[in-house]
Amino acid sequence: MTVWDDLVGQDRVQEQLAAAARDADALVTSVSDGKPLDQGSKMTHAWLFTGPPGSGRSTAARAFAAALQCTSPDRALGGAPGCGFCDGCHTSLIGTHADVQVIRTDLLSIGVKETRDLVRRAQLSPAVGRWQVIVMEDADRLTEGAGNVLLKAVEEPAPRTVWMLCAPSLEDVLPTIRSRCRHLTLSTPPVEAVADVLIRRDGVDPERAHAAARATQGHIGRARRLATDERARARRAAVLKVPLRVADVGGCLKAAQELIDTATDDAKQMAEEVDAKETEDLKAALGGVAGGRMPRGTAGAMKELEDKQKRRKTRTQRDSLDLALTELTGFYRDVLALQLGSKLAIANVDVQDSLDRIAESSTPAQTLRRIESVIACREAMDRNVAPLLAVEAMTMALRAG
Ligand SMILES: [Zn+2]
Repeated sequence: MTVWDDLVGQDRVQEQLAAAARDADALVTSVSDGKPLDQGSKMTHAWLFTGPPGSGRSTAARAFAAALQCTSPDRALGGAPGCGFCDGCHTSLIGTHADVQVIRTDLLSIGVKETRDLVRRAQLSPAVGRWQVIVMEDADRLTEGAGNVLLKAVEEPAPRTVWMLCAPSLEDVLPTIRSRCRHLTLSTPPVEAVADVLIRRDGVDPERAHAAARATQGHIGRARRLATDERARARRAAVLKVPLRVADVGGCLKAAQELIDTATDDAKQMAEEVDAKETEDLKAALGGVAGGRMPRGTAGAMKELEDKQKRRKTRTQRDSLDLALTELTGFYRDVLALQLGSKLAIANVDVQDSLDRIAESSTPAQTLRRIESVIACREAMDRNVAPLLAVEAMTMALRAG
């Protein structure tokens, strides 16, 4: 086992990162502290990982972070850093390493204030590790102001600081920032490779692993959820019934309401799992006694946490709806493939009957319009149209075809 094990179907990226980790290791090991990285080094201070959702952008960044913190004695014997076992590797991978910050925002955007805090942190020398690593999972969510704050830090990094930014594509990142990053592109892993990792790492039985990998078309996270979470399977089954339910206006409105309710439930469940503990932790940190009066000045901090939890709820609901829309698009893409007699692999083989029914009862032009209406729904939500309105407009458009 090594730190790279969770990277699926990304051999070229892995090679580059392993080479960078070797150079980084040599740099720290030699007595060159404080010396800037030279031009010929495969290591650099700012990295940008792009690739489609589910391709493993943040997985690659975390693996690289772990390899940078590797302290395995084997390295001295010519072994590559990133053993996966030593304390540096292990704590980086499970997220408890003091010098690896993974920034995953629960919000729709990352603002100036948070970015300033991060940049300040990034100026520090590593506390225990070899590098100070900041992984920003959603660099595409930086506001323009926040991007400018980050730019300064990326332009003049502290000698032992490494920024790893992740985004869907180059275009999602400010040009000034991306031009200062070394860029790595991850590709959608092959269905077979995803199935393989589910079997090998998660102990999923082969049949289920293949079905999940195929249904999600190389999206590892979604495939894993589908293969291991009964609720996720039930959700998907419900979404894939929508195309059959939009035969009349009543069916459209009902289907829309259910999509919204499901997303709301997801957000609620997530909130129940996380919020209470977070609130307790904050109270403990502020020195409050359970059931007792909170010390003065804590109201502000509590209010801030409540606001954050509220915004996270909004994002969870939005993510859940996004997933449903992705599944719907996949359904109609399959329908189109059938109508055009395309040799493309059908993703949703488990609902072949429904696919056939819709394919036979409609034209390719209708299917294309339906796919467009799903895309339009997502765009409407981006513009902050009320979710129920956007989804109702979509189900009505699916009916019209
Ligand atoms: Zn290690």
